[in-house]
Amino acid sequence: MIKRDSSTQLFEEAKKVLPGGVNSPVRAFRSVNGAPIYFEEGSGAYTKDADGNTYIDLCCSWGPLILGHADPRVLKKVSSVMSKGTSFGAPNKYETQLARLIVDNHPYIEKIRFVNSGTEAAMSAIRLARGVTGKNKIIKFEGCYHGHVDSLMVKAGSGLATLGTSTSAGIPEAFVQETIVLPLNDPSAVEAAVKKYGHDIACIAIEPIPANNGLLLQDKEFLLFLRKICTENNILLFFDEVISGFRVAFAGASGYYGIEPDMVAFGKIIGGGFPVGAYAAKALVMDNVSPDGPVYQAGTLSGNPLAMAAGLAMLQSLNQEEEVFNRLAEKTAYLHQGLDSVLSTTNIPYQINRLGSMISVHFTEIPVTDFETAAFGNNDTFKKYFHGMLEQGIYLPPSAFESYFLNDALSFSDIDQTINALHLVIKKL
Ligand code: PMP
Repeated sequence: MIKRDSSTQLFEEAKKVLPGGVNSPVRAFRSVNGAPIYFEEGSGAYTKDADGNTYIDLCCSWGPLILGHADPRVLKKVSSVMSKGTSFGAPNKYETQLARLIVDNHPYIEKIRFVNSGTEAAMSAIRLARGVTGKNKIIKFEGCYHGHVDSLMVKAGSGLATLGTSTSAGIPEAFVQETIVLPLNDPSAVEAAVKKYGHDIACIAIEPIPANNGLLLQDKEFLLFLRKICTENNILLFFDEVISGFRVAFAGASGYYGIEPDMVAFGKIIGGGFPVGAYAAKALVMDNVSPDGPVYQAGTLSGNPLAMAAGLAMLQSLNQEEEVFNRLAEKTAYLHQGLDSVLSTTNIPYQINRLGSMISVHFTEIPVTDFETAAFGNNDTFKKYFHGMLEQGIYLPPSAFESYFLNDALSFSDIDQTINALHLVIKKL
């Protein structure tokens, strides 16, 4: 057994002063049991924990570290900006440079507003959609996550085109009433909801590549259908690209599929590991945001120079070398092939979903395409798999409902090591 005394002790201390010992629930390892790992260092594809153990990191801070940990280009830029101060609560040149880089590479975006998290981005985008259209309701999809925004913490009620029910305590019923939750990939459900509530629907929100129940591979036709029904009914199409933006391609899922939404939310990736989010659209829409327009939204640390500099360094590196996306996809395909070759020698049912540099393994016989099919995954098998891999020095996201995020620092030999680890782990599954 790997020694984890220091991590365990740190967690015990944390539980005394932080709810569940953490600042974000999935980190508490509840769904896999056990105590979380306290990382103290990261370099490229690897992390080192408080007990000195090293891991190949396939979670990578849940996505933002596309270049890997402590990338020298990002560190250099952040250090030089940081040495001159950390925050002024006033405009700085880096926010304009980052905005220009994003706007120039997304044809449907003319203006962007930076915020501090994906949650804030989705929340603000929805307020803007309501403010611009003068309508109240939103459609979202079961299996997609858009942060812990009140009106988005809602799951499907019973029957199609019904209003949802809240997934958290503390959310007024009146907010829930404004959210319609539908199954993914079901045009008839969308048609029925638009028929019933269309006059009052401000936007349809979707993760164009849903990655919050593992990776749920979508039908491009469904996204095209959403584009059409939104245009026909004066509804804004809102792509939440917090995960897919700058990961599947520089122009995100919209570029990958060639579908232009009316609004987009970005998140952690554009901060290169610092807390950032953003929402963006054509000027006609964004000019409704304060101080130009009546939709109020503000933030003391929004556009913070450190976060902007980190995002700029990472996105510039990704933009200068489009090949990076092919390289990442190639490595992920190699991992897929390796996992498949090991798991196929067992009688354990499994599914592997992959797109670009995202991949998820589900222990079920049924192809995983939506919230319902993801829920069939065997969590007991996942727990054994997760802890087995951890014991072999492979850090996977600590939940059966998450995608792995590969980074450019990861080598083929790291992937071989991951596959070899699985060889040992399957004996105990
Ligand atoms: N949207 C999506 C698609 C996400 O995956 C997430 C979180 N991973 C969020 C929004 C919320 O972002 P944050 O955790 O930064 O608030």
